[in-house]
Amino acid sequence: MFDSLLIANRGEIACRVIRTARRLGIRTIAVYSEADARSRHVAMADRAVAIGPAPARESYLSIAAVLKAAKEAGAQAIHPGYGFLSENADFAQACQAAGIVFVGPPVEAIRIMGSKSESKRLMEKAGVPLVPGYHGTDQSDATLAEAARAIGFPVLVKASAGGGGKGMRVVREVQGLAEAIAGARREAKAAFGDDSLLVEKYLDRPRHVEIQIFADGQGRVVHLFERDCSLQRRHQKVIEEAPAPGLDPNLRASMGRAAVAAAAAVGYVGAGTVEFLKAADGSFYFIEMNTRLQVEHPVTEMITGQDLVEWQLRVAAGEPLPLQQNELAIKGHAFEARIYAEDPARDFLPATGRLVHLRPPTEGPHVRVDTGVGSGDEISIHYDPMIAKLICWDADRNRALQRLKAALADYQVVGVATNLAFLGSVAAHPAFAEGAVDTGFFERHKADLFPEPGPASERVLALASLDVLLERAAEAEAAARQSSDPHSPWHTTSGWRLNDDNHHVLIFKDGATEHRLTLHYRPQGWVMDLPSGPLRVNGVLDADGTLRADLGGIRLAATVIRHGDERVVMGLGPSHRLILFDPAAQAAESEAQGGSLVAPMPGKVTQVFVKAGDRVARGAPLLVIEAMKMEHTIRAPADGVVAKLNFAPGDQASDGDVLLAFADEEGG
Ligand code: ADP
Repeated sequence: MFDSLLIANRGEIACRVIRTARRLGIRTIAVYSEADARSRHVAMADRAVAIGPAPARESYLSIAAVLKAAKEAGAQAIHPGYGFLSENADFAQACQAAGIVFVGPPVEAIRIMGSKSESKRLMEKAGVPLVPGYHGTDQSDATLAEAARAIGFPVLVKASAGGGGKGMRVVREVQGLAEAIAGARREAKAAFGDDSLLVEKYLDRPRHVEIQIFADGQGRVVHLFERDCSLQRRHQKVIEEAPAPGLDPNLRASMGRAAVAAAAAVGYVGAGTVEFLKAADGSFYFIEMNTRLQVEHPVTEMITGQDLVEWQLRVAAGEPLPLQQNELAIKGHAFEARIYAEDPARDFLPATGRLVHLRPPTEGPHVRVDTGVGSGDEISIHYDPMIAKLICWDADRNRALQRLKAALADYQVVGVATNLAFLGSVAAHPAFAEGAVDTGFFERHKADLFPEPGPASERVLALASLDVLLERAAEAEAAARQSSDPHSPWHTTSGWRLNDDNHHVLIFKDGATEHRLTLHYRPQGWVMDLPSGPLRVNGVLDADGTLRADLGGIRLAATVIRHGDERVVMGLGPSHRLILFDPAAQAAESEAQGGSLVAPMPGKVTQVFVKAGDRVARGAPLLVIEAMKMEHTIRAPADGVVAKLNFAPGDQASDGDVLLAFADEEGG
């Protein structure tokens, strides 16, 4: 086995490869672009080498830069992960020339399988069933058009060098053909630098069933069963599972044999995936082979109990396959859901931004999370917007699905749009529970899968309100600790006031709806006026941010994430986003001019959190004014130093009074 391995990738796959290499006692070397200097894969590796600017073209896709890093760091082998250079024959060749082991198949196998047309020609010879179609070298319009007519519409025009669903056009009738050919050529040229096309019969809602194969340098080939990847958007996988639901064992065996034959025909070594489309009548057709580890390999690992990256490294080091075909068996059922920063409601448009809060479900024997990001990390425009892969396993499909639903509900992401709610509704769909999957699933069930978020439930409103009040109480407590008179009744955090039914009014914007909520202080918490009647609410915020609430005697745990004026309530079904509307804070902000803070409304100052000389950060609470039975926290409009306080607790302020002055700091 090698003693050092460079991982020519980033994100979750780099982290995943590092994990296995470390377990095997291999020294790991990460590479990173300027955008990834603080990434998890960089922190995880034993050593990390910068390879260029953020655009992949100038870093992760630069053969020269990756090889230079490998030589500098003394890497004996390179694992390419998936994507980037993983299926680039020139890269595999360059590694070989540099005397570095490429953890992947022989150069020639990558080259042949990299072309959908060439691989189909080879598979035809090997007797592997193909989707009826044309995959010849004559690329004239007339030949392609003639092929389409001979196949019969609908047809699929595909880029031979394609991947990721690019350069693909469905053509339903002859009129659309010329335009589809021209469009697919343009897209293929731009994406792959190669505009050769093939034409296939477009199958009606097939299932995508792929076989994981493995071969060693001694000529042995085995398969590790199938994965069903039929749930796709824009021809890209979203939820995968293993084994394929309802697959007849005889069919499994013959697909396995066909995949092994495909690998043998190309002299394969290492991990590969032979992709088939399966029609409703049980016939299946080769579409392509991927000569690398797949994104969805964890479901195979979960049902076979094997570590495929370990297999890859062993085979690349010249060892034989760890197991023979008859030693491999399927145990249980696994799902993988790809969690993307994207907006399903806007045709899955990728989203970017900072992951303000990220908390995956707890990992264990049933739940695995493969991710390369943590709270505070950025999903940038430069790379794939995948946040994580959530993998769930159990003894059978129903139980595994139950695990998936629970883990999706527990997955907390705030800061960027995600497909979590969409994945949740797919996992909960009765047709999915039945295993009635095919590539038309999302289209067919779209009315059920893109639910409009309804208005917040009373429970969600209660939790959001409780969070706001607990936050204010904590702020008041912190201020009291610093105050000259910590025992002053004005600093009490329970809300006690003389001769007054003290209460808060909170306004939350909830989409187009506005909720105006009144909460009355009581010795043990608050009572909230709700349409269904008064509700007693109380709770505590744990150190880890969990809100442990008591809502009218019902105890529950939830998470409320604060992000500016946003409150995202999570942990009770789909997460719900509310905007806390604070008219006073807005008014105060706009009226904070000339280094002073003006009362936004007439009212009584009830709490003062700062004293002259205090340095405050933008947004820090300064004082509380009570007006029209509502309490308003006045916050610092900018970073600064308090120069003078004009009001003490109990004082009445008039509209426009200067509440406090900020020091005139040199230079701002
Ligand atoms: P890519 O390499 O771009 O991912 P593939 O050839 O692997 O392209 O196909 C991706 C997906 O497109 C398949 O999983 C399937 O859903 C759909 N597809 C491909 N070929 C056909 C076909 N002939 N008929 C129907 N659907 C197809």
